[in-house]
Amino acid sequence: MARIAVIGGGASGLVAAIEAARKGVETVVFEAADRIGRKILATGNGRCNISNADIMSDDYNRPEFVQAAMNALPPEEVQRFFSDAGLLSLEEDEGRVYPYSNKAATVVDVLRLCLDEAGVEQRCGAPVRSVAPCRRDGVEGWTVRFEDGSEQDFDAVIVSVGGAPAKGLVPDDIKYIPTHPVLAGLKTDTANIKGLSGIRVRARLYLDTDPADLSDAWMDVVDPDFESDYAGPEASGEVLFRDYGISGIAAFDMSRHVRPGQMVFIDLLPDLDPQQKVDFIWEQTIAHPNRTACQIMSGMLPSRVARAVVCAAGIDPDEPIVAEQEAVVLAMVSESFGLTVKGISDPKQAQVMRGGYAVKGFDPSTMQCKKHPGLFVTGESLDIDGRCGGYNLHWAWTSGMIAGRAAARCVRS
Ligand SMILES: Cc1cc2nc3c(=O)[nH]c(=O)nc-3n(C[C@H](O)[C@H](O)[C@H](O)COP(=O)(O)OP(=O)(O)OC[C@H]3O[C@@H](n4cnc5c(N)ncnc54)[C@H](O)[C@@H]3O)c2cc1C
Repeated sequence: MARIAVIGGGASGLVAAIEAARKGVETVVFEAADRIGRKILATGNGRCNISNADIMSDDYNRPEFVQAAMNALPPEEVQRFFSDAGLLSLEEDEGRVYPYSNKAATVVDVLRLCLDEAGVEQRCGAPVRSVAPCRRDGVEGWTVRFEDGSEQDFDAVIVSVGGAPAKGLVPDDIKYIPTHPVLAGLKTDTANIKGLSGIRVRARLYLDTDPADLSDAWMDVVDPDFESDYAGPEASGEVLFRDYGISGIAAFDMSRHVRPGQMVFIDLLPDLDPQQKVDFIWEQTIAHPNRTACQIMSGMLPSRVARAVVCAAGIDPDEPIVAEQEAVVLAMVSESFGLTVKGISDPKQAQVMRGGYAVKGFDPSTMQCKKHPGLFVTGESLDIDGRCGGYNLHWAWTSGMIAGRAAARCVRS
């Protein structure tokens, strides 16, 4: 009987194994750790943000490849996989989908049931050292070698080992893009954010891809017909000030775009355009002439953040605003509160690795390696990452389901 090996019992490997076994193919999952699905338990702060109701391929680093995969397996099929599996889920803000139980363990429990019902053999504590093509009785296949020196042959192999895969798990002629961690807090210069640690704001982040963009953004205060042409990366959502810099969803998303040495700008009032910011500050100044600059800004921002903005603007926080030009400067700084990025806060805390096997070597409708029929790669092992909000698990499920089905077709044909 045809056999498929799935290397890695994480998100993508488990759904790949379920889909392959449901097609009647003997399927074995080899997991290095002592239990499957361990990383899933840590996702979404233990709640597991399994997907997003508004998933868009543009929010991945390889949008064409992801779009082609989502054409082969639309997002609704992933949702159906989980509802058919018995998982009740709930859509929250910004389309984020969580298990109704609010517990990542529920997702693992349901996957475990599906594995058992489909007859998938699970071998935990079985780290794989290498995967290499072989020929047995005139038939092409794959030899899986384990760290303990043993080996087994299979008709097809699905490599689902997560980010930064070890060498030897695919043939050397498959192009590998070096990895680095993304989706993490940003270490920045801290001079302007001292004392803000622990404060959360809802903000928009953007970069200084072109320094001219920054001054452009303020042209429309002077010229109402001017439209800024800033087209660089942006990230919106929670920003949490930390001792080392910034964290929170928007900072995590921006970590996919920013490089050390670049400035990241925080728009602390993202719902107001520049003119509205100026108008509000100046109107409040006229209405409350005895209030200090800090007190005026404290009606718009958490008081410690307000003080930091006024200080960064070079205005005395404990004196009243005296001229409209000061209101313009305060509005400008509240829209472009700049921090120089030094790097990722803690690479070990990063949620995803950018890099991995280059996608151009794979068929997005099957996840099969173009050079090596019978070899499939899924999830984060490929050079694909997405933004926060369920995108990375959605990619794991999508690529895993596609690979499981395609591998089963491949060994049965
Ligand atoms: C703290 C944290 C929170 C996250 N939260 C979310 C979230 O809420 N939503 C979201 O969309 N994404 C989230 N992510 C990202 C998401 O978890 C990953 O993108 C996803 O798990 C990748 O799935 P995968 O199958 O490619 O790899 P993994 O889930 O990493 O699974 C790989 C598996 O392979 C095993 N393995 C590795 N090497 C070998 C080997 N040689 N032999 C045998 N087994 C091996 C590993 O032990 C592991 O079990 C989070 C990540 C982290 C770290």
